[in-house]
Amino acid sequence: MTTTSLQLNNGVVMPALGFGVFQSSPEETAAAVETALKTGYRHIDTAAAYGNEREVGEGIRRSGLDRSEVFIETKVWVSDYGYDRTLHAFDKAAGKLGVEQIDLLILHQPAPKGFDATIAASRALEKLLSDGKVRSIGISNFMPRHLAELIERTDVVPAVNQIELHPYFTQPEVRQADSEYGILTQAWSPIGGITFYPGWGEHRRSVLSDPVLGEIADAHGKTPAQVMLRWHLQQGRSAIPKSVNPARIAENFDVFDFELSAEEIARVDALDTGVRSGPDPDERDPISLGIVIPEA
Ligand code: NDP
Repeated sequence: MTTTSLQLNNGVVMPALGFGVFQSSPEETAAAVETALKTGYRHIDTAAAYGNEREVGEGIRRSGLDRSEVFIETKVWVSDYGYDRTLHAFDKAAGKLGVEQIDLLILHQPAPKGFDATIAASRALEKLLSDGKVRSIGISNFMPRHLAELIERTDVVPAVNQIELHPYFTQPEVRQADSEYGILTQAWSPIGGITFYPGWGEHRRSVLSDPVLGEIADAHGKTPAQVMLRWHLQQGRSAIPKSVNPARIAENFDVFDFELSAEEIARVDALDTGVRSGPDPDERDPISLGIVIPEA
């Protein structure tokens, strides 16, 4: 069955299809968010490290929607891990977004080289949850070994794990671990953005140009991006496609009037290469990026 909203493990309901803003410049972000909300999206995914939380808040206000109608997800960056630092990271994010409460606050990376700080950050998320400052908490880029340690050392099972997930990299082991723990898997680069970001390397093979996706898209009178989004949604995942282009923002939301067959889903599943396009969460120490999150 296809759903347009998903129930998290603490009962909170989240729109399955959200709107991403990674690499949307501050100048573009408010307009993109406003357009997305006017198109029908009700879930925005941002991050402290994207440098555009303030403009996400501005876009939400410009849409004229009531705060309660929009599900806001954002991420704590690794330089803000640690109990007190993560509590303060909430103040920074909420201040920039211009909201009192965040619907889903997640840890951006596992930071395995300093996992004690990750655990302390998670404890701070638990405190924010029990104080009602956030409605749900989660993680991103956690592999099964990170999940196992987190769950062993904390009290609240995260609601969401946001991971690289598109037809060329489907992460079955992570999805399996998520589902065993009752964690919802959310796809970043859901239409394979990381396989074709401009300037990220000449040898990438864009999943958007894959002939199998093209064939399935043609059979439904849809586009490869729309086929990928259906492929996520029909399997009960959340997906958060990004665009700053009004036509593509609309295209990516126009996915509720067709259905992939089981055979088509299997054909898309079979495109998995097992090779990630994004950084390996265990290889690069995200602290080394030197990103510092400014005050609100
Ligand atoms: P996406 O898979 O959403 O693809 C975005 C890219 O595709 C952009 O270059 C966009 O360009 C283009 N595009 C959008 N729609 C279409 C379309 N219908 N047809 C053709 N091209 C299209 O990639 P992202 O990596 O941005 O992932 C989505 C979101 O996931 C991010 O914005 C962010 O919120 C989150 N994310 C999280 C990460 C994490 O570590 N937790 C890492 C990466 C992303 P244009 O804007 O010009 O339309």
